[in-house]
Amino acid sequence: MNSLASSEQLTVKGLPISPGLAKGVILRIHQRPFQQTGAPQVNSEYDKQRFREAQEKAIEQLKALADSTKATLGPEKAAIFDAHQLMIQDPMLVDAILAAIMQGQCLEDAVVEATLSIKAQFDALDDPYFKERAADILDIGQRLFRIITGGEDISQIDDKQDYVIVTDELAPSDAAVLGIKRNVKGVVTAQGGPTSHSAILLKALEIPAVSGIPMDDSFQRGNTILVDGVGGEVILFPSREVEEAFDRRIKAQEETRLRLKELKGKPSVTKDGISVLLFGNIASPKDTQKVLNFGGTGVGLFRTEFLFMGRSDSPSEEEQFQAYSEALKSMAPHPVIIRTLDAGGDKDVPYIKGLVGEEANPFLGLRAIRICMEYREIFMTQLRALARASAFGNLKIMLPMVTSLWEIRTARAMLAEAVLSVKDAGHKVAENIDLGIMIEVPAAAASAHVLAKEVDFFSVGTNDLVQYTLAVDRQNPRLLQWYEPFHPAVIALLENTARAAHEANIELGMCGEMAGDPLALPLLVALGFHELSMSAPRIPWIQDYLMRLTKDRCLELFQKVRSMDSGSSIREELTRFMEEHQG
Ligand code: PEP
Ligand code: MG
Repeated sequence: MNSLASSEQLTVKGLPISPGLAKGVILRIHQRPFQQTGAPQVNSEYDKQRFREAQEKAIEQLKALADSTKATLGPEKAAIFDAHQLMIQDPMLVDAILAAIMQGQCLEDAVVEATLSIKAQFDALDDPYFKERAADILDIGQRLFRIITGGEDISQIDDKQDYVIVTDELAPSDAAVLGIKRNVKGVVTAQGGPTSHSAILLKALEIPAVSGIPMDDSFQRGNTILVDGVGGEVILFPSREVEEAFDRRIKAQEETRLRLKELKGKPSVTKDGISVLLFGNIASPKDTQKVLNFGGTGVGLFRTEFLFMGRSDSPSEEEQFQAYSEALKSMAPHPVIIRTLDAGGDKDVPYIKGLVGEEANPFLGLRAIRICMEYREIFMTQLRALARASAFGNLKIMLPMVTSLWEIRTARAMLAEAVLSVKDAGHKVAENIDLGIMIEVPAAAASAHVLAKEVDFFSVGTNDLVQYTLAVDRQNPRLLQWYEPFHPAVIALLENTARAAHEANIELGMCGEMAGDPLALPLLVALGFHELSMSAPRIPWIQDYLMRLTKDRCLELFQKVRSMDSGSSIREELTRFMEEHQG
């Protein structure tokens, strides 16, 4: 890519991580790496003054963030911004910065040094509470750094125009805040794959995004940028014709969105009457409304780890009960599949990390069900909360990262114990609670016939299944061309899983990102998937395509695809098939 800002149209290919088209002016955030530069200090009094101004500005930003978050996401989510306002005035940090300035460092370096040294002190304490404070101090230091280096912050977005956020990497907290800003139309990042949590949040917020874009000076604040979250490319300095054509596509996208609204309430069936239930994935009970709004008839994945994030200890049984029962009540009589804690790997729950300690390979480490097997009190609290919540709707419990029968048997025994003990305490519990597992490790897919005998349902987690099958870190942007959900190995594992589910006569679902990918849909129909769970806004798009398909054509396509020898040829075949079924 050229590295000079120019007015020549520039198209840069990346990876689509959230579908849709967007146009706006660039707002770059988190521009400079958070590290010392050794730049000389000009004047210590001047730097102290700059520090005071930056501190005031940070407090203003945090107040604005707290207010808008309170109004939209509630006081719980806003508490972090209130706490940060206090921490940014804490003498521990302030004195360390002023001392570094007095020792001759420039303000930028003083902020980096003070932040990292306080963070290291917290990190060294073997207590999950302090590990989390370490993350807070880093966040605060980075905020100050952005202010003094002129980097933009999400709270700077005004209402004057439509923006596209351009950044190296979007933190999940940033992604959540973007939902509040109606005029953030798109996101472009250098890092972060399609199954990262930020990507999952962006999809839920319907903000088109492209990742894997190398940043250079062309990406300057104020330049217009076009974002194609379907084709996975961005266009800078568009010619008038290209911009007008893009505007027409945005208009057509809006028209399709309106047309798809009409599908709500209609049965999700193929042309020849095969029903496929379309469910939504959620991260909090509040998200159920969105699933219902988009016509979802259940929740196929409630990622409960979000309840465990951003705090210094496990949520209590009562807090968990409130969250689970709220989700169940709002979806009733539709089912809600609640996944037990899936911490570790890409899901950073700081105090659990504090318990587990550093691991050389977190994705292959103490993650998900393994944490629940090792720290049974955490699991038992969750199971008790789930058992109590079961009286309020149609609950199914799902275990993540299962590889062996003993995990299922242990979980089932613990669930029975939880049910008995909450009943003894006088709580009502549903007559029957289905217990199922995610198929997201190749071992589970390959031995699906063994596992199917002892569970009520399977739900395929393709995000991890693809990662583990192909040995490709799902978060590493350099490996994106290797992260291929249509690789023949993945197709073979899906087929094996489906066969085992049908033979054992259990429900077969999918809740990984593949479930919301229209290209995959005919294959999933051919394999007899009963339920697909996806980011809520995807539901009408998948329903629209489903209603154009017939089982016979899907089976024919599947036979063709299973003899193909590469992900790219399969992808081409699926694209052709989809084009044939448009209009
Ligand atoms: C998956 O792995 O496909 C999945 C749905 O779980 P998560 O993305 O939360 O790991
Ligand atoms: Mg997973």
